[in-house]
Amino acid sequence: MKVLVAVKRVVDYNVKVRVKSDNTGVDTANVKMSMNPFDEIAIEEAVRLKEKGVASEIIAVSCGVTQCQETLRTAMAIGADRAILVETSEELQPLAVAKLLKALVDKEQPGLIILGKQAIDDDCNQTGQMLAALADLPQVAFASKLEVADGKATVSREIDGGSETLSVTLPAVVTADLRLNEPRYVTLPNIMKAKKKPMEVLKPEDLGVDVSPRIKTLKVNEPPKRSAGVKVPDVATLVSKLKNEAKVI
Ligand code: AMP
Repeated sequence: MKVLVAVKRVVDYNVKVRVKSDNTGVDTANVKMSMNPFDEIAIEEAVRLKEKGVASEIIAVSCGVTQCQETLRTAMAIGADRAILVETSEELQPLAVAKLLKALVDKEQPGLIILGKQAIDDDCNQTGQMLAALADLPQVAFASKLEVADGKATVSREIDGGSETLSVTLPAVVTADLRLNEPRYVTLPNIMKAKKKPMEVLKPEDLGVDVSPRIKTLKVNEPPKRSAGVKVPDVATLVSKLKNEAKVI
């Protein structure tokens, strides 16, 4: 079974993002970029399926600028067998990415497609769901456990106050939540091996997809600055402040 995994290049989760001075977006110039953390989990899960003998081939896909090749090399260092970059310098919104992935699903016919539950830059949490709708495939979002057997995936997902376990017929779309697994560290020998793995570069036009944005960002603002806290000497002062200043009790 082929497994297709979508990996996005995003601003590294350790970087404190800055809003551009003209409020049109976030400054990404000279900022460290990395693989979206949920996509690392998605790749790790695919690699574990391959190690169990369930998956035969893992294809990592990224859509975006040329530098997404670095993200794909990381995916291959974790264990993906080959990579596809859909290269464009256009701003890609979830619907455009879902359309590109749908075209690749048609081309590659994977048995399972794993995405991250959300990208930490746009926090959209849309692409997996849109892909499932466009490709008319069953989906389970927010997977925290995944088992594949007999043409079916059994997937647990966290819900309010507990977890639910669903069974879907493959092919299906699954999006990875934080607790699905803990991704392995990328080792130097595997980074070296990944350099020799095949990477195909396509353009959106090659897949017949119009990626032009459908949504316009009007304004991006920093969150309001929080005022500094104070240290209180004892509980009585705390209660008095909560009562008389904050007026919350
Ligand atoms: P989002 O809907 O933007 O929160 O993204 C959800 C998931 O879709 C991500 O975790 C990735 O697996 C996938 N995805 C989104 N954008 C891209 C992209 N440009 N290239 C590859 N995968 C993407």
